[in-house]
Amino acid sequence: MWDLLVVGGGPAGASAALAAVQVRPDARVLLLDRSDFPRDKACGDGIAPHALDVLARLGVDAAPDDPPVSRLRLGFAAGTPVARQMRRPAYVVPRAVFDARLVAAARERGVTVRRHQVRSLQPERGHVLVDGEPARVVIGADGANGVVRRLTGVPAPRGGTVAVAIRGYAPVDPERAGEQVITFAEHGWPAYAWSFPIGDGRANVGYGEVLTAGRTLRRADLMDRMDALLPGSGAGATGWRAHHLPLSSGRPRQPDGRVLLAGDALSLINPLTGEGIYYAVLSGALAGRAAVDRAAGDPGRAYRSAVQRELGRHLRHTTVVARLARHRPVVEAGVAAARRRQAVFDDLVELGLGRGLLTPRVLAGLLGR
Ligand SMILES: Cc1cc2nc3c(=O)[nH]c(=O)nc-3n(C[C@H](O)[C@H](O)[C@H](O)COP(=O)(O)OP(=O)(O)OC[C@H]3O[C@@H](n4cnc5c(N)ncnc54)[C@H](O)[C@@H]3O)c2cc1C
Repeated sequence: MWDLLVVGGGPAGASAALAAVQVRPDARVLLLDRSDFPRDKACGDGIAPHALDVLARLGVDAAPDDPPVSRLRLGFAAGTPVARQMRRPAYVVPRAVFDARLVAAARERGVTVRRHQVRSLQPERGHVLVDGEPARVVIGADGANGVVRRLTGVPAPRGGTVAVAIRGYAPVDPERAGEQVITFAEHGWPAYAWSFPIGDGRANVGYGEVLTAGRTLRRADLMDRMDALLPGSGAGATGWRAHHLPLSSGRPRQPDGRVLLAGDALSLINPLTGEGIYYAVLSGALAGRAAVDRAAGDPGRAYRSAVQRELGRHLRHTTVVARLARHRPVVEAGVAAARRRQAVFDDLVELGLGRGLLTPRVLAGLLGR
């Protein structure tokens, strides 16, 4: 009998396993992933500093040695952008490197890691069977299209939306070498193209937008839109990959019981920016703790309260701002306010990448016009 079985070795799953063995070093923890690590994952590779804070508390130093690019440029292609230093810069680390580091740390701390694609899940009295493997608690950290949520019958969050995004690695355009660049699309917000230098002469470049009902977007559409917003950014790019992003609706759905969902599997992606790694690491750590803490009572209930405590207000505020931001004048006003005041810029970055709230000065900035 495993004390904890984690499905998925991305940031949510690896953090869950790390947290479980931190709380209970004698816990028997199994981490299953359908891939061997290192493995690639479609992502912009932007790692919010808050994610590194959570990992540091788990005893893992995941920051690269090179200093991060700390200047961020935001705006519409046609308007005047804001370009400022971020108070705490986001690192850009290819997921093939970042995720493998976390899985290796979990293995070093006694977590059993196996390559296995999970297909079935059966709740039993006092435990759960995952492809015949018994565990007291299961964490589904299997990403945007994961099977655990489906097999458990947990519905998608009310009011949740899904985005799709593509990324590649291209020689960095000299004009964009010293900054992280985000250019908003004119329509279909939230939608934007990005160029995030990764420090070896290349940048992670990409484009993402929200999928509205019944609409599909082909890879060529996504690449055309990226090129329209950041001309030439995809020239010579390799490694194109696309994936879904289940955006947070502010109300994650975690039922009581022995099956917990973390990261993208719980639709924890910032609806403004598509940032999901910080939420994945944080929710994974909270789930891992709740799973092995015998004093906490029902693991699902304990974990749901912990997510609510840590992220509840922030998720509700980002939902409100994402709704406001569907109106282009609001976004324009936000960019202009961030140009005028560093503090507004810092608050907006904190809302988009971390755990910020809709502060009075941001609200005044957004509604200023
Ligand atoms: C193009 C794009 C750009 C993005 N850019 C950023 C960004 O710059 N910054 C940011 O913070 N976020 C970004 N995101 C979001 C971010 O990638 C996710 O939020 C993050 O990966 C979530 O981590 P996770 O651990 O929940 O899931 P994942 O990283 O998806 O990990 C899930 C793991 O589960 C495994 N798995 C799936 N099914 C099974 C199964 N049946 N059995 C066993 N294993 C299974 C997979 O192999 C995978 O390793 C982006 C997303 C996309 C698509």
